[in-house]
Amino acid sequence: MTTLIEDWADQAACKDSPPDELFVRGAEQHRVKQICSGCPVRTECLAEALDNQMEWGVWGGMTERERRALLRRRPNVQSWRRLLDAAQDQHRLDTGVAGHDIAV
Ligand code: SF4
Repeated sequence: MTTLIEDWADQAACKDSPPDELFVRGAEQHRVKQICSGCPVRTECLAEALDNQMEWGVWGGMTERERRALLRRRPNVQSWRRLLDAAQDQHRLDTGVAGHDIAV
């Protein structure tokens, strides 16, 4: 079963935020992460960033530094979208809850 949303950008919590507010550097990224914490498409956004090795900005509630560390820890992942989708399905089966925040 696929739970991740294909056309997720329209549901992004940041969709009306100016790009200058989102693509900040350093400690400012932690402020941006607060926007992500309530985003309904956080997992989709994170998968997009990881699969495309987006270098800059906050995506899916992770800073560029956090994403780089994750990619280094899991160098053999071929599709983050598939992995996160499967994790979300498993989370739903385990808890009976449709969750969107999957720990990676
Ligand atoms: S997770 Fe954050 S960066 Fe990604 S769409 Fe949601 S608010 Fe925007």
